[in-house]
Amino acid sequence: MDNMEKDIILQVAQVSEKIGKRQEDVFYSIDNNDNNKEFKNVSIYNANGEYIVGQYIYDIANIEFKEGRPRRETVDGKDYIVYDMFKRSAPGESSGFWIRGVESVNSVMFLWQSAFIIILVIIPLILLLTALGGYYITKKAFLTVNNIIKTANDISAQNDISRRIEMVPNAKKDELQHLSVTLNKMLDKIENLIVQEKQFTSDASHELRTPISVILAQGEYLLDIAADEKEKELAQNIVAKANQMSKLVSRLLILSRIDQNRQRLVKEQVDIGVLVDIAIDSMRELAAQKHISLSANVSDGTVVDADESLLLSVLTNLISNAVKYGKEFGYVEVAASKAEGTTVITVKDNGIGIAKEHIDKIWRRFYRVDDVRNDEYGSCGLGLAMVKSIIKLHGGTISVKSEPGKGTEFRITL
Ligand code: ATP
Ligand code: MG
Repeated sequence: MDNMEKDIILQVAQVSEKIGKRQEDVFYSIDNNDNNKEFKNVSIYNANGEYIVGQYIYDIANIEFKEGRPRRETVDGKDYIVYDMFKRSAPGESSGFWIRGVESVNSVMFLWQSAFIIILVIIPLILLLTALGGYYITKKAFLTVNNIIKTANDISAQNDISRRIEMVPNAKKDELQHLSVTLNKMLDKIENLIVQEKQFTSDASHELRTPISVILAQGEYLLDIAADEKEKELAQNIVAKANQMSKLVSRLLILSRIDQNRQRLVKEQVDIGVLVDIAIDSMRELAAQKHISLSANVSDGTVVDADESLLLSVLTNLISNAVKYGKEFGYVEVAASKAEGTTVITVKDNGIGIAKEHIDKIWRRFYRVDDVRNDEYGSCGLGLAMVKSIIKLHGGTISVKSEPGKGTEFRITL
């Protein structure tokens, strides 16, 4: 028995009990059911089934009275639970009242159905809409955040400070938009500073060129006219340092020109065999001092489209490094060959090698592993920085493999 049936039985039973005692009061309270929910589903009929008082449902009134359990009746497509009880005036009497409890199943069902619709359809729909709205809003916000991340990554990956954060079109003017604008302004400032700094390096190198060449020329003259060993030594020192400065300044100039995208590439068909020979020849004296043998192994026809003088400074620096950081009675091998359009040039020595902790840093400007040792050659630590910039400018790559105590190999691919 469900709750509905129990409720009807209870109401009918209460009416039945009261009707035996104070009939008029019961009729009255059923009739004025407004604020008495107690008998809201109950109506009373006489023994002939004629309506007296209570909830009157026209269709139901015509259904035959039947004592027993609550039953289901369908009238005009509507379902009702009906429960009848005959209340005799006195035991054994045939006079009395029919008390009928009626509840529309549909109205209850409708309530349940509504609840189901709310639970199963409307609530999920609201949740779905909220989720979609939230997703849309967050996606828009994340679009801005993603643009910021992408720009930051691009700047560090490509070393390109000219990149800016892309603005999301029609985006709300919120804090993230504000952040993008602020970051872009900051990048403008940084880029400006870098440009100024590059310009300064370039201007300073330029300005130094003339005085350095004067010092060099006059030092050489002093060397010629030196009266004794002491003067000769002093003049030699001046010439050596002036040469060192001149080398430094010309490297700085190349670097700053490449930085400012002003370095012109005078490309031509360069025979690597010839270039390697020139570079090796220029190092013979230095190599002889350490009894280092220099050898070249360049395949015939290794020709590349490149700027000859820049490529020569690349080779000279790599070979001079191999000699400077080579062991006495060691060797330096330069090899080059071309396969499938790619030219590979290697410079290999069996010198002191480079320890792991330095290997990534050797490309930095002014970075030298061992300041004291390098000083005897007037090294300034710009060689590899320049080499890397030149190779990059040619669209090539350079890498290094080294084992401390065993040797080093630089490999260029063009
Ligand atoms: P510069 O080339 O300006 O005269 P440098 O030779 O010291 O000075 P880089 O050519 O840039 O500068 O080399 C950087 C550092 O890398 C060197 O100081 C040296 O410590 C290390 N290095 C370079 N080549 C070799 C090599 N073949 N073997 C061992 N160490 C090397
Ligand atoms: Mg060098």
